[in-house]
Amino acid sequence: KKTLDEIMKEDKWEVDEKPHIVVDYEQCEKCQSKPCLYLCPAGCYTLSESGKIMFNHEGCLECGTCRVICPLKAIKWEYPEPGKGIHYRYG
Ligand code: SF4
Repeated sequence: KKTLDEIMKEDKWEVDEKPHIVVDYEQCEKCQSKPCLYLCPAGCYTLSESGKIMFNHEGCLECGTCRVICPLKAIKWEYPEPGKGIHYRYG
């Protein structure tokens, strides 16, 4: 039986140069809890040394979690262009 890591390695990404998620960092400055840091399964959200949210759309699984959990609605989320983003392979 395959592990989740092995299954994930079979998926591939076509990185869309235009990010499909746009973060309003001014809102992030006001956010106390920053749940995106803990709940994004791909670890796309990180904290800089100075404590600012940083976002990298490469590796995004398009799960939609960040869009739902952001308490300040600071995340503008669209699907990537057709053919871009993650290509899941099942089986
Ligand atoms: Fe992370 Fe999912 Fe948001 Fe992509 S859609 S950045 S994987 S939480």
